[in-house]
Amino acid sequence: MVRVIGAGLAGSETAWQLARRGHRVELHEMRPLRQTPAHTTSDAAEMVCSNSFKSDDPFSATGILKAELERMDSLVLRCARATRVPAGNSLAVDRAAFSALVTAELRAHPAIAWIEDEVRAPDPAVPTIIATGPLTAEPLAQWLGERCGGARLFFYDAIAPIVLRESIDLDLAWYASRYDKGAADFINCPLDKAQYETFLDALLAAERAELHDFDTPYFEACLPIEVMADRGRETLRHGPMKPVGLDDPRTGRWPHAVVQLRQDSLAGDHFNLVGFQTRLKWGAQKEVFRLIPGLANAEFARFGSIHRNTYVQAPKVLDATLACKGIPNLWIAGQLSGVEGYLESAAGGLAAAESVDRALRGLDPVPLPRETMLGALLHYLAHASPKDFGPTNAMLGLLPPLPEDALDARAAKRAGGARGLKEAKGRLHRDRALASLEAHLAAAGARA
Ligand SMILES: Cc1cc2nc3c(=O)[nH]c(=O)nc-3n(C[C@H](O)[C@H](O)[C@H](O)COP(=O)(O)OP(=O)(O)OC[C@H]3O[C@@H](n4cnc5c(N)ncnc54)[C@H](O)[C@@H]3O)c2cc1C
Repeated sequence: MVRVIGAGLAGSETAWQLARRGHRVELHEMRPLRQTPAHTTSDAAEMVCSNSFKSDDPFSATGILKAELERMDSLVLRCARATRVPAGNSLAVDRAAFSALVTAELRAHPAIAWIEDEVRAPDPAVPTIIATGPLTAEPLAQWLGERCGGARLFFYDAIAPIVLRESIDLDLAWYASRYDKGAADFINCPLDKAQYETFLDALLAAERAELHDFDTPYFEACLPIEVMADRGRETLRHGPMKPVGLDDPRTGRWPHAVVQLRQDSLAGDHFNLVGFQTRLKWGAQKEVFRLIPGLANAEFARFGSIHRNTYVQAPKVLDATLACKGIPNLWIAGQLSGVEGYLESAAGGLAAAESVDRALRGLDPVPLPRETMLGALLHYLAHASPKDFGPTNAMLGLLPPLPEDALDARAAKRAGGARGLKEAKGRLHRDRALASLEAHLAAAGARA
């Protein structure tokens, strides 16, 4: 029997993968007995902030990771594809339908026993995967800090608000995708220069929720909107409010700035403000975000908020198969292990299941090849500098460089400019990743 603690993005994938490989699984989840500060349901794999599994571009880092997960029959990815909502080139889902589907799959599996309780410490006699996420309940987080040999680290992560579609003024806002690529999936709210300046002044002056720990950094790739604004008056126009490729139908031109909203439910009644994660106080969010043209009467289904995330110092604590160094029978998966993102967390869950499966069958651990996106992520966890270690998303930069003669950069550039070169590189990385994965699966005797 294997114990999985936490039915989040990682734990759900781990439990299902282990059950699929013939193991009996006890899946321990504390919700709804005890909620985290960000979760609100009792379902598995709840997405606490955005509803996106990021880009579906096959030659991007997340596109390559998805191809690997698909090849390894990922539960999370299959459920995401089954509940997707329109979002241009990204894989976004109806968050409620997605979690309900993952939950139904887990609860229906005869080898998985779902146990509703908070685990305070693992039982050393039982093979256990801790997948309790960035908001791990305090007793277990303390146990990890004391027992895992490395410091327990933190960063702040924020959530973006969601508004009701019927409260968006579509006389001012319009449906479109950037550069009209694909279907018109986003609602776009245009701001002229004066409106942008007024919005920025209000944002900078608005009251922020207090932070309890001033030494904890933000996750750089997901800064609160007001923190981005602190960095300069033009920062937002080059970030989440960039107007490029969005022709306002009323003027035929790009506005000075744009706020994009992405569909959040299959019914299309909820939309989230893309990139507007925030720690403004709720009253201030109402006041400031209603200054955005099209959102003057916005009704909020959820406000933004900020949370302190926990993760372990992976290079000290974990090897590249997610096993805890020096603690037999223990693996850590998901965001707690130092990856960042829904997709990366689920991917870590899958890798942990493979490691545990090998261990239970008495086989030596075999890390995934570094040439795969998932293997590169896990290699980073095990080998990054412990001193400045911070969580990471999937990025092409984590992959080993391509052989020098692999790419005719000039020809690729001539054919498609900078974009063509990027795509050609991505294609080579993808081909190499998938070939390495095939070789790994064949060697490991794994079945697809
Ligand atoms: C505020 C915030 C915003 C985020 N925004 C995004 C985003 O927009 N996009 C993105 O890709 N990622 C985002 N993340 C990062 C991260 O990818 C997600 O948190 C992801 O859900 C992590 O997956 P996980 O399985 O590791 O943890 P989780 O999905 O959080 O799952 C952990 C599970 O363990 C349970 N649990 C905790 N402690 C115990 C215990 N002691 N006993 C039993 N059960 C326990 C929890 O209830 C939870 O169900 C955000 C994180 C936070 C905190």
